[in-house]
Amino acid sequence: MTYTVSPIGIIHSPYQEKFGIPRQPALAPSAPVSLRLLPPYDHADCVRGLEAFSHVWLHFLFHETLARGWQPLVRPPRLGGNTRVGVFASRATHRPNGIGLSLVALQSIDTSAGVTLHLSGADLLDGTPVLDIKPYIPFVEAKPEARSGFVDGPPPQLDVVWQADALAQLQAWQQAPAWFARLVDEVLAQDPRPAYQDDPARRYGMRLADCNIVFNIAGAVVTVLEITPITQN
Ligand code: SAH
Repeated sequence: MTYTVSPIGIIHSPYQEKFGIPRQPALAPSAPVSLRLLPPYDHADCVRGLEAFSHVWLHFLFHETLARGWQPLVRPPRLGGNTRVGVFASRATHRPNGIGLSLVALQSIDTSAGVTLHLSGADLLDGTPVLDIKPYIPFVEAKPEARSGFVDGPPPQLDVVWQADALAQLQAWQQAPAWFARLVDEVLAQDPRPAYQDDPARRYGMRLADCNIVFNIAGAVVTVLEITPITQN
């Protein structure tokens, strides 16, 4: 049996590449993310009443990694990257059907030209196709007493330090969005490195919004070394 689904909207987000995206939503609340609905769903009627909900579930496609298929066993970063669990015991991106699920905060809905949902804290790549939106209903879905296996709390956070050069580059960047520096702090504090890697001399590069960021990580400290805005013509 084969069923066909097609997106109801597309995500616009500061995350231009997979590297650096927090591993779950809410870990980087400063990320301004929007969801633009596609025709024929871009009608105000389709979202009537949704503004009364503070959070929504998004079902989406891991479109960037779909082609790589899936494996029955995966190595979650939370287990250090060398212990395996079943794909269905994980939130891994490589899964049958490649469907992701994120609970995100709904800030506002703009129906002035089509429909755009303004969200915060989403863990989604720019261009992600969204399959469905559902309001979050805490009395049914919030289960604070639930057991959660190997994910027993938020991940440890690193300290983020900006080198003087990087701070100067930030100050010189006139078009820097107001949320940019906060988002850099939140994203880097999550430790974006793949499990295993621990080389304090290694310089990492990451594209976030319209900026390239260079940093390194030694112990529990991330140092922002350079930020280079990408000039757009
Ligand atoms: N909250 C979701 C996603 C968890 S995996 C769920 O539980 O299903 C989170 C990772 O998904 C991020 O680190 C990011 O690298 C990856 N990701 C986000 N959008 C993606 C996309 N469109 N295609 C492939 N991977 C994506």
